Amino acid sequence: MSHRVAFITGASRGIGRTTALTLSGAGFGIVVASPEVENNELVAAEIRASGGDAMTLDFDVTSPESVKEGVSRAIKEKGHVDVLVNNAGIARDGLAIRMKLSDWDLVMKINLQGAFLCSQAVLPGMMKSRWGRIVNISSVVGQAGSVGQANYSASKAGLIGLTKTLAQEMASRNITVNAIAPGYIQTDMTAVLPEEVKAKILASVPLGRIGKPDDIANAIKFLVSEEASYITGHVLAVNGGMYM
Ligand code: NAP
Repeated sequence: MSHRVAFITGASRGIGRTTALTLSGAGFGIVVASPEVENNELVAAEIRASGGDAMTLDFDVTSPESVKEGVSRAIKEKGHVDVLVNNAGIARDGLAIRMKLSDWDLVMKINLQGAFLCSQAVLPGMMKSRWGRIVNISSVVGQAGSVGQANYSASKAGLIGLTKTLAQEMASRNITVNAIAPGYIQTDMTAVLPEEVKAKILASVPLGRIGKPDDIANAIKFLVSEEASYITGHVLAVNGGMYM
């Protein structure tokens, strides 16, 4: 087989962007799949400048058509998709008692339904080639809960259930499905938090620092490697010890 191809949703920024660069460095061809076309191109240009191979997709995980067409295009251009990183995610925080149904729905659609649709789209190809890796980006709050994040924490807990079910359904085809539960990572998503909230979170991290996108990308690199072939249905906490 020509080199393996990793399809990364939400790869235009933050954890997804760093994962794209890291997996490219590890020899994977990269599909950068997010709605912001210009940002996708910037990431792809960075990958190509360092000698890697990348294609971009104008891709919205909330749209079943966009997912289907995007995955088909990737397979047509690259021949196969061997790795899927379900990384696209958003937060729309607010106390549950006042949470708008539209905020509940949007978070579920992007964070949970999106991962389901993308998995469904790539799995037939992986089953055929009898090799595949899916990594779902969950969160510490999917394990521990979090005030003001009923929608987000439920979507991230849902990803853990999806991970364990797909792991069981796909094991006989040599496809592993795992989740990573990041703690507090420095990206646009967390940059908007008030300073006092950031200080409180930092105080709850035994390792005494906030996480970097590299901390997550390196864990993903391991889970999609040949060396991780006996790991499936696992939820890997990468959180500085903030939840054990
Ligand atoms: P980020 O910097 O806000 O990036 C989010 C990415 O998701 C962007 O590339 C965005 O694309 C993409 N996206 C949003 N809606 C999408 C859609 N409908 N279809 C496809 N892509 C879409 O976030 P991040 O901090 O890197 O987070 C990445 C993942 O890690 C998320 O699932 C998040 O929940 C999870 N996570 C983050 C933390 C943390 O502390 N940062 C902790 C735990 C888990 P655009 O650029 O086009 O908007």
